[in-house]
Amino acid sequence: MKIGFIGLGQMGSAIAANLIRSGHEMTVWNRSPEKAQPLLAKGARLADTPAEAAGGDIVLTMLADDQAVDQVTFGKDGILSAKAGAIHISLSTISIELADRLADASGGAYVSAPVFGRPAAAAAAKLFVIAAGPAAAMTICEPIFADFGQRLFRVGERPSQANLVKLCGNFMIMSAIEAMAEAMTLAQKGGIPGTQLVDILIGTLFCAPVYRTYGDILAADRFRPAGFAAPLGLKDMKLVASAADALRTPMPVLSVLRDQLLSVVAQEGEEVDWSGVALAVRRNAGI
Ligand code: NAP
Repeated sequence: MKIGFIGLGQMGSAIAANLIRSGHEMTVWNRSPEKAQPLLAKGARLADTPAEAAGGDIVLTMLADDQAVDQVTFGKDGILSAKAGAIHISLSTISIELADRLADASGGAYVSAPVFGRPAAAAAAKLFVIAAGPAAAMTICEPIFADFGQRLFRVGERPSQANLVKLCGNFMIMSAIEAMAEAMTLAQKGGIPGTQLVDILIGTLFCAPVYRTYGDILAADRFRPAGFAAPLGLKDMKLVASAADALRTPMPVLSVLRDQLLSVVAQEGEEVDWSGVALAVRRNAGI
């Protein structure tokens, strides 16, 4: 297929590389064009505008936040000004409200497909893809999800439903990180190494990938370079809060998570991983 890819950050670069590997004809665009170099070396073509990248069958976007997706879609030379009418697959973690707006403006050619998995999983084509969109568009898009994902979940025809699943998931991941960070700090202050606590709990009651992945990161203090930067995590907690407001769903734990992420960004800067909340937890405990 002729595929365009917009947004060559940590996740986008890895996903686009897998699509090229699968034999698709790839055109890429990124705000900072130098990040396209490794993909151009693999055979991709560089577009001058998002509209040009949307000149084929499908265009995927993997961008930081709502503002970026809004700009490359509705802005000057954006996706919607392309003549070809490619199906837009948005992989980014964005708001329910923006996903609804993208769907309304697309004439049936928009699919939300946010993903679970960090950059290493993206590079290994091991992402979990949560997709929703009109049946006709989904039928065209479905084969390419296997090029970068290990499993696809379809959650309905309204695209923003996929975004809601993703936001619920990120709320649960952040809750797990915070709980682990608090328990490891408590254990450490009582003389039990955090690594031993993680080994015991993950080897028994908490044998889930999210505890394994983040338990290892916390045990090794691997907070830099960020695989998922704390400001993006903060963005996601705000998106969860906005969905919770709209759906009249109190989420008291969410306020704690948001404050912890604010603490870590204020104390450690923008480049730390979101699991760096462990640093704020330890500091509060005097470690
Ligand atoms: P990243 O490395 O920071 O990349 C962000 C991308 O967005 C870059 O291509 C950046 O362009 C572009 N961008 C930012 N603001 C823009 C704007 N105003 N206009 C145009 N382009 C803009 O982030 P990432 O980790 O790949 O994450 C991308 C998305 O995936 C986010 O929505 C994130 O929540 C989600 N996600 C991340 C992970 C993870 O573990 N990292 C996992 C699942 C989902 P420049 O290169 O010019 O800065």
